[in-house]
Amino acid sequence: MSAGAGAADGVIYRDPVAQPGTVDAAAVRSHLGRIVGPTHVLTGDLASGYEVDWTGRFGGPSLCVIRPGSADEVSGVLSFLHGSGIGVVVQGGNTGLVGGGVPGPTQPPAVILSTRRLDRIGEVDDLSGQVTAEAGVTLGTLQRHASAAGWHYGVDLAARESATIGGTVATNAGGTHVIAHGMTRAQVTGVAAILPDGTALSHLGGLVKDNTGYDIAGLLCGSEGTLAVITSVRLRLHRPSPPVTVGLVGVPDYRAALALMAQARARAATGSALLAAEVIDETGLRLVMDLTGLPWPLRHHHRLVVLLEVADGGDASGLPFTDDDDAVVGCDAVARARLWEYRERQSEAFSALGVIHKLDVSLPLPVLADGAEGLCELVAQYPGVTEFGVFGHLGDGNLHVEIAGPSPDDRAIDRAVFAYVADRGGSISAEHGVGRAKAADLHLCRPAAQVAAMAAVKHAWDPQWQMNPGVIFAQPPGEQARPQVSD
Ligand SMILES: Cc1cc2nc3c(=O)[nH]c(=O)nc-3n(C[C@H](O)[C@H](O)[C@H](O)COP(=O)(O)OP(=O)(O)OC[C@H]3O[C@@H](n4cnc5c(N)ncnc54)[C@H](O)[C@@H]3O)c2cc1C
Repeated sequence: MSAGAGAADGVIYRDPVAQPGTVDAAAVRSHLGRIVGPTHVLTGDLASGYEVDWTGRFGGPSLCVIRPGSADEVSGVLSFLHGSGIGVVVQGGNTGLVGGGVPGPTQPPAVILSTRRLDRIGEVDDLSGQVTAEAGVTLGTLQRHASAAGWHYGVDLAARESATIGGTVATNAGGTHVIAHGMTRAQVTGVAAILPDGTALSHLGGLVKDNTGYDIAGLLCGSEGTLAVITSVRLRLHRPSPPVTVGLVGVPDYRAALALMAQARARAATGSALLAAEVIDETGLRLVMDLTGLPWPLRHHHRLVVLLEVADGGDASGLPFTDDDDAVVGCDAVARARLWEYRERQSEAFSALGVIHKLDVSLPLPVLADGAEGLCELVAQYPGVTEFGVFGHLGDGNLHVEIAGPSPDDRAIDRAVFAYVADRGGSISAEHGVGRAKAADLHLCRPAAQVAAMAAVKHAWDPQWQMNPGVIFAQPPGEQARPQVSD
């Protein structure tokens, strides 16, 4: 890396690793351009959309955005930046909600490595029911590809047309069908990735049985770009379920919502399978109606509405509704999609209120009924909260708490919610990851010995702590998080 004095664009950055070296920003960009092609090095207005996240709450300046078009180019980029002291922030579809795919306030500013040009997808293998996709393939593209071959991909979420396979693996995304198929980790049978020094790892054979030591693919699931750049993933597919029915029903409280879900699950004995159990509160429904113009879906108003999707042949026999329930049922594709819209537009509808606090927590199912009620009381009474709502994946004990009022930088309400769920055996991040948003709160869910074990893994893979600085582990790592290693 050349000295920064006299850099062409006049920007001189201190290189914190190779003291007293400097980083010549223009020279860095020019060299990166030779690897990925100059048109794939973005700065200024072209870079700005990559520098802020979907929530608008997190982001920071970058040295540049680079868009490699192959795993070899990713390797070239990482090996060039290795040891430079310049952080590398990996970004897929930028739909993450915890600031993990955008830069923090590091000096020098990080390089954003966008995977969106890694968008090739292989043929579905009918024998194994598996497919290999590059990291930048969107979830929606993969779903359609699987479906065209007579298969089904088990992960689904509302951001499907932008979220990438690499991003969903790196966050171990959950979504709406976890109760049926598990989280993303359960779909992954192999991975290819580039280590921070540019070394390529590839384990894409997709063997169902392969107990040859540590599960590298499993480790990269949920690693949030802190260990390596995932370039391809081998994924397990499922045969499509029988035709499904979707039902929406009003309930007075979380206890009733859980009881209904349990009844739908019990119908497995009669051949129907519960695929999704979601909950929406009245505030969220109202905001979606304001956003979309959709009507109130039921006869009466209710504090909570539960959405159930069951694979029952499409005749509603899997829904546990009685004549006394205020419910609506969708058996054909149009009616089902319309009911799902009340749930899928939630995050977007709350975002229409401005840059708000989007928290993603979970509680153990046995304490969820009382825990969710207490959580609502806590938030409702919190100073400065002007509007809040809760929706989420009821079947997984996963609640998304959306809070308007407190300034985006004010973390007091976030901390109060995190402490509340941690005290009850829950998680401060059910499915969105730790990112930058919760790095300082990791200790609430992970005791010091676990944080140290995770930091040791990070240090072994990324000794320079160059990959996604500030994500999962607060930055700078500090002696308490960074293991003492003697070379
Ligand atoms: C409307 C909406 C609904 C959502 N619903 C859900 C939901 O139901 N369930 C759920 O789990 N999430 C949900 N999300 C969050 C988000 O879609 C997921 O976290 C998704 O997995 C992010 O994918 P992405 O490609 O956008 O990743 P990004 O946002 O670009 O990145 C997310 C993290 O992954 C890392 N990363 C990305 N690609 C790679 C790679 N190739 N190699 C290494 N690291 C990488 C990034 O560094 C970052 O830490 C929702 C988001 C929105 C906007």
